[in-house]
Amino acid sequence: MMDLGIAGKRALVTASSKGLGRGCARALAEAGVDLVMNARGDGALATAADAIRSDFGVSVTEVPADITTPDGRARVLDAAGEPDILVTNAGGPPPGMWTEWDREDFIAALDANMLTPIALMKACLPAMMTRGWGRVVNITSQSVKSPIPVLGLSNSARAGLTGYVAGTARQVAPNGVTINNLLPGIHDTDRATALDTGVAEEKGIDIADARAERQSTIPARRYGTAAEFGAACAFLCSTHAGFMIGQNVLLDGGAVNVTL
Ligand code: NAP
Repeated sequence: MMDLGIAGKRALVTASSKGLGRGCARALAEAGVDLVMNARGDGALATAADAIRSDFGVSVTEVPADITTPDGRARVLDAAGEPDILVTNAGGPPPGMWTEWDREDFIAALDANMLTPIALMKACLPAMMTRGWGRVVNITSQSVKSPIPVLGLSNSARAGLTGYVAGTARQVAPNGVTINNLLPGIHDTDRATALDTGVAEEKGIDIADARAERQSTIPARRYGTAAEFGAACAFLCSTHAGFMIGQNVLLDGGAVNVTL
């Protein structure tokens, strides 16, 4: 395996007991990074943390907390101290229809998928800048490049985060700190299963058929895995990626049909 040059560094990975967040935590641990992991529920969090300790021998601190609340964030940041690496993640907003969403729905989506990562960056960036080295990766979505109509709350909130990162990444880059976004297309996680279940129920078809239908729309003809997502995240956090600033990297099996 390529030496990522980050063994012994410390990372905070939020919303990381399952799915893409866990994939990122595992890949960083494989590169020798000590972790602070977080999720609301403590059961899956303990299981994921134990597996990482035994598979990779790094130190893992678990903080059960809702990362989208000020209190939850304070507890997580307290445990994380001054991490070298920050990977921000939270659950995505529910699907729905533009006619149904009120101000409160938008405020919740903005809190979870825009203002939470911004608050985490604001807390962690100063120490990274003082040390002259830091890495931030935000897990966003392919919906930033190409809208998913039923996920209008996500399209909106993540667009706000993307604009913030574009400017802020250039302000912290002089101090050796990089901020980039990873844009997942469909990955095989609980979230994908939940979305497929919704489609299956709506169309009155089997979930396997809903999934096969969706896979046929992806040039790679499959869903992505949390492990390959994590490997890309670990690369962005590596010493090799120091010249990548403010980028939006799609991991979607070619699903978004764009040239750039
Ligand atoms: P997932 O498999 O459902 O996992 C979500 C993880 O986040 C769990 O560990 C969950 O644990 C934790 N979490 C959720 N809300 C939290 C909160 N408020 N505070 C702390 N932890 C929280 O989801 P995923 O597929 O990995 O998706 C991760 C992100 O990528 C989401 O924002 C999703 O919208 C986005 N995304 C995913 C896909 C995909 O195909 N999978 C595609 C595009 C975008 P608890 O429930 O115990 O808190």
